[in-house]
Amino acid sequence: MLISVVVPCYNEQAVLAHFHRRLRDHVATASGGHSHEFLFVDDGSTDGTLAVLRRLAADDTRVRFLSLSRNFGKEAAMLAGLRAAAGDAVVVMDADLQHPPELLTRMVELHAQGYDQVLARRTRTGDGMLRTLTARSYYRLVNRFMDVEIVDGVGDFRLLSRRAVDAVSSLTESNRFSKGLFAWIGFPSTTFTYENAVREHGTSKWRLSGLVDYGVSGVVSFNTRPLRAALHLGLVLLLGATGYALWIVLSVLVRGVVTPGYATLLTAVTALAGVHMVMIAVVGEYVGRIFHEVKGRPPYVLKETHTPCPSPPGTAPAPVLSPGAPEATR
Ligand code: UDP
Ligand code: MG
Repeated sequence: MLISVVVPCYNEQAVLAHFHRRLRDHVATASGGHSHEFLFVDDGSTDGTLAVLRRLAADDTRVRFLSLSRNFGKEAAMLAGLRAAAGDAVVVMDADLQHPPELLTRMVELHAQGYDQVLARRTRTGDGMLRTLTARSYYRLVNRFMDVEIVDGVGDFRLLSRRAVDAVSSLTESNRFSKGLFAWIGFPSTTFTYENAVREHGTSKWRLSGLVDYGVSGVVSFNTRPLRAALHLGLVLLLGATGYALWIVLSVLVRGVVTPGYATLLTAVTALAGVHMVMIAVVGEYVGRIFHEVKGRPPYVLKETHTPCPSPPGTAPAPVLSPGAPEATR
């Protein structure tokens, strides 16, 4: 069996060689009789990542790489890798060693038992209290809104069978939320837990705003329940307002006109304006997504690819450049 390891890399020059060494050493001792390819996807890094990849590819014939023309984000990089992977099973792994390469064996074993998806679930050891708490509540909220279940701690670190890879890469939507997509394709899946590791070098590419955006996409790109929630909220407010109006009419009839009402009025006006804005924003999120989908742009653009050709020993395999990409020769 050929196992592809897909590794999206964005500015990972500090850790790549180390990652490759660990992966290679692990595969050397525990290949389980399978052959491997290591498919790195350079997501438009601005540091020396591409140079490191070229060097790795020259040294190790199992290394292939793709380089995207700019930073398209991890989702796009992962998709590029999944589409290019040739393996009978594909493992997606981060370059920062937060996904221990040693777990590969475990994943392949579970896959051999007939699972199409083997998900590695990390513990939250080493994460801040706040991050853990927000993540927990986020998953609880999201699962209420989504048709598919996503699990706290399960990320992109997983093994996919060939048919699962084909299923994921055939989905053409450009707003990709892979946690959801992986769950959406179905197939027999199993999960195992591993101890969380902190990033070995470099820094995380996530900032708080990015996480919030990602969270919103997670809900909005998956179904239309937020629209339904807006409808419900609107109905509740309408009912509340009608009740309040009746109460005012009644109290005028019983007690006569009481003039003050400035505070109530202002509160009601501003609160309703806020609610309207939120609802318009929810609709806007969907319209924005439709706009993106309608353009039908590809999720990424390739700049350079490298696939080792069987070459005589001692000569470095020549890089294969994608057509129509003059920058690639630089
Ligand atoms: N990554 C990527 N493109 C991006 C951001 C990240 O390919 O725009 C890669 C990154 O190189 C790493 C993986 O995605 O291999 C996970 O990124 P990171 O470690 O920053 O995320 P975290 O582990 O903090 O969730
Ligand atoms: Mg990381």
